[in-house]
Amino acid sequence: MSDTRYVFVTGGVTSSLGKGIISASLAKLLQSRGYKVTIQKLDPYLNVDPGTLNPYEHGECYVTVDGAETDLDLGHYERFLNVHTTQANNVTTGRIYQNVINKERRGDFLGKTVQIIPHITDEIKRNIKILGTKHNFDVVITEIGGTVGDIESLPYIEAVRQMKWELGPNKVLVIHLTLVPYLKSSGELKTKPTQHSVKALLETGVQPDVLVLRTEKNLTQDVRKKVALFCNVDIKSVIQSIDVSTIYEVPVKMQEEGLDETVLRKLDLPIDTKPELKEWKTFLSKLKNAKEVVNIGLIGKYIELADAYKSIIESLTHAATYNDYKVKLHLIHSEQLNHKNAEKKLDGLDGILVAPGFGHRGIEGKFAAVKFARENDIPFLGICLGMQCAVIEYARNVLGYQEANSTEMAINTPYPVIDLMEDQKNVTDMGGTMRLGAYDCKVKKGTKAYEAYQTELVHERHRHRYEFNNEYLNAYEKAGMIASGYNPETGLVEIMEIPDHPWFVGVQFHPEYSSTVLKPHPIFLAFIKAAIENKGKR
Ligand code: GLN
Repeated sequence: MSDTRYVFVTGGVTSSLGKGIISASLAKLLQSRGYKVTIQKLDPYLNVDPGTLNPYEHGECYVTVDGAETDLDLGHYERFLNVHTTQANNVTTGRIYQNVINKERRGDFLGKTVQIIPHITDEIKRNIKILGTKHNFDVVITEIGGTVGDIESLPYIEAVRQMKWELGPNKVLVIHLTLVPYLKSSGELKTKPTQHSVKALLETGVQPDVLVLRTEKNLTQDVRKKVALFCNVDIKSVIQSIDVSTIYEVPVKMQEEGLDETVLRKLDLPIDTKPELKEWKTFLSKLKNAKEVVNIGLIGKYIELADAYKSIIESLTHAATYNDYKVKLHLIHSEQLNHKNAEKKLDGLDGILVAPGFGHRGIEGKFAAVKFARENDIPFLGICLGMQCAVIEYARNVLGYQEANSTEMAINTPYPVIDLMEDQKNVTDMGGTMRLGAYDCKVKKGTKAYEAYQTELVHERHRHRYEFNNEYLNAYEKAGMIASGYNPETGLVEIMEIPDHPWFVGVQFHPEYSSTVLKPHPIFLAFIKAAIENKGKR
């Protein structure tokens, strides 16, 4: 029998309390003590994966190296732990039901009535345990999406109850995250919502082992005692999670509160190792102490919800911190940007980033941003659709192909400089059918891309259907925009850049998915460095 320990993180009172950050922080602390840890997210919706979801629904869709389209929390997991996650780390109710129904159609249930208990719960448990048994982790931390009491998450909580019963208390542990609101009028921290939330969990047969309480004020000893007494936990298991200015401080705060020790003790795992957080703390102190500001404009059409660009924003933060700068982000709506107002709206930016995206809403604003950056020598980074926009703008305004476009935006364009990939032409299903996951990219020496990477072969993650149309490559290269990165097997262009510009790079892939706290991404580092240099020039 595998000796893997399973930790579940549930949430109560409200959503958005930061289960993902607490899970990632605990994982970081255990990892820094030498444990092999992974984090999994169970999402209670019926989409098979978040790939088909509009970013306004749940924020960015994150992509793993193995090509899974996942919840954005997996981005936090990778940024904190600096290890890759896979398809197995994100499972939705849709996938669970799809697997069970496929089994039923195959006849695997031998005539039995297929039910939520045991068939759905068995499938949930199989998807949790697979990380322990197949991948040999010491600790698997599973975050359960949604809030306790939701109809949607009931089968997950039931699976947790069963696992606790099957494996025993020192193999399975439940951390419940709640909110302790502060009432200004009476000057009090209130524990009642936490009590109710624990009660809701108890009704489903699960007693939480550890409570993490989100709060804006320090919890008094009395508040902790009260929560411990009413919620059936020892006082050391009442952990305060106070608001902090950066998510990267949470592991340090959790260590101060002894969350890792409490968890290890309850799981009967040795606590004799000391957590090694030196590098992490160095990053944190750089982040907090940086004084000088670099202004970056992020041009996109989902800017009303900053979570839609989560990984990009975090990558910019990592890169600015390593350059000893603070990044000041200017979120600019591409629909409100045009060639007439670009100068006014983009004035004062040290660097311009045009975001990924789908469809033609706001596309002209993106072209305006590209043109402004190109003509005014402002460092520019285009990611995926952003790179495609840079290519189209160059065709229109430098090559003189007035009607150049991507066939995604104009199917009959006379100059399809961006076109559907060959293997996408017969695709009809939308879910999971893009070019997804990590592919090799050969970087040409003597280019800005090479200067950033300092190596000739990189692997970068993708999520797109359209590509640079190689029929036009000659024309581009003659006119001053070159391909500095390409796929060695297919010849697909992966990076375009303008050598005569201080720093103008478009990447077909998503570098933002692989920037971590301890390993900032070279492209972001170089972009921010160029933006800082540009600042000096103006
Ligand atoms: N819509 C473009 C494509 O499918 C770009 C995708 C993206 O930005 N992720 O190729």
